[in-house]
Amino acid sequence: MKKTYITTSIAYVNAEPHIGFLYELLAADVLKRYHQSQDTEVFFLTGTDEHGIKVAQAATKAGKEPQQFVDEVSKKFEQLGKNFNINFDYFIRTTNPDHQKFVQEKWLQLAEAGVLKKRKYTGLYCSGCEAFKTEGEIEGGKCAIHEKELEKIEEENWFLDIQNSKLEIRNWIETSVFPESRRQEVINILESGAYDEVSVSRSKERYSWGVPVPGDEGQIMYVWVDALFNYISALEINGKTDLWPADIQIVGKDILKFHAIIWPALLLACGYDLPKKLLVHGFINVDGKKMSKSLGNVIAPQQLLERYGVDATRYLLFRQLSFYDDSNFTWEDFDRVYNGDLANGLGNLVARTIGLVRSSLEPLIRTIPKVELPVFPDFQYDLATINLLINKADQHISKHRIWVKPEDYTKEIAELANLIWEVSDRLEPFMPETAVEIRRQLTELDSKPLFPRLKTETL
Ligand SMILES: [Zn+2]
Repeated sequence: MKKTYITTSIAYVNAEPHIGFLYELLAADVLKRYHQSQDTEVFFLTGTDEHGIKVAQAATKAGKEPQQFVDEVSKKFEQLGKNFNINFDYFIRTTNPDHQKFVQEKWLQLAEAGVLKKRKYTGLYCSGCEAFKTEGEIEGGKCAIHEKELEKIEEENWFLDIQNSKLEIRNWIETSVFPESRRQEVINILESGAYDEVSVSRSKERYSWGVPVPGDEGQIMYVWVDALFNYISALEINGKTDLWPADIQIVGKDILKFHAIIWPALLLACGYDLPKKLLVHGFINVDGKKMSKSLGNVIAPQQLLERYGVDATRYLLFRQLSFYDDSNFTWEDFDRVYNGDLANGLGNLVARTIGLVRSSLEPLIRTIPKVELPVFPDFQYDLATINLLINKADQHISKHRIWVKPEDYTKEIAELANLIWEVSDRLEPFMPETAVEIRRQLTELDSKPLFPRLKTETL
């Protein structure tokens, strides 16, 4: 059997889960279910990134020890899986001792490969990014992302030299990073030289919540080095190292350079193959603004769950948000599409079809064929093809005015039932429970409302 290894990024646990990470998890889950429908065995990895100064600060603020804090927050991320029917196969936590041991082994391998150097360094540091900022990343003396004053810091750190692998990394980006529009962006960063040497450790004095650098007591690994290796440590832990290189790694655009520059550099230095595909998704804005705690516009997954239920939330996120570009979330849009596409659209269509089958075909019901495994060669995150099928089924009913005398239209009604069956197959990766329920209703001719109409359209 063909095997596929899919990863999401691991969530940083300095804050609670929001819909951005839910979206990424669902994207991987939909992909997993799609591949499974094509007879492929899938290993789907996600988890939490639990080290770093921001996590330590968040723990202090919450009045907790870092370990207790990350234990609690990571549970909330893991729970997202259960709440939204997301079938990941393993949830890696970077505080897992096996992971930490693995990362330390990799560090020694990097040292042996001669790509680590220790030297004095003076730089402008953003505690928001947990990184030294380069010229292009500074605006008016502040971090361009966090608009925070930068700290001038001098310390002795370990650096990763990526210059020998730049050409190989560039070639890999050109074929493996998606969408294409992100390739030039990250090639420009690579070619600028800003990452020729990456600081990969921090002085323990400033930063102690992390994996110790083996053989250098004063230093802690930079959180990204620790985090990136999760994609392989998780395979070690599960006895599945044959799955490397990953087939698909899904990440947000904000961490593109870590995954398209530092990650391949680490892999090449340790003698690993590079991932086959890196899919970079956009951000979800809310009412036209970036989601942020201070604006108070963060959408919690639980709010969607309570309003729409599991499958409808899964559907709406992919129907309304574009995968690669930034998208805008509004409750009004989601309500409108829920009522339009699901309550009035699909839900009504299924109920009508069952009614028609009942009044004309019931004696012949066994003639509705069981559709074999569907093959959808070009998987896309948009639901356009499926909605075309639903429209076709609707038109099929109105064109023939089937409802007037259904007994004269047994052939058309059988076709209609087949179309609905196909719709359910195609919807299955997005709405797994609904797909099974549609087929159950069709088979048992037992019509039950799939999507109750929302009573109020605004919150
Ligand atoms: Zn910053």
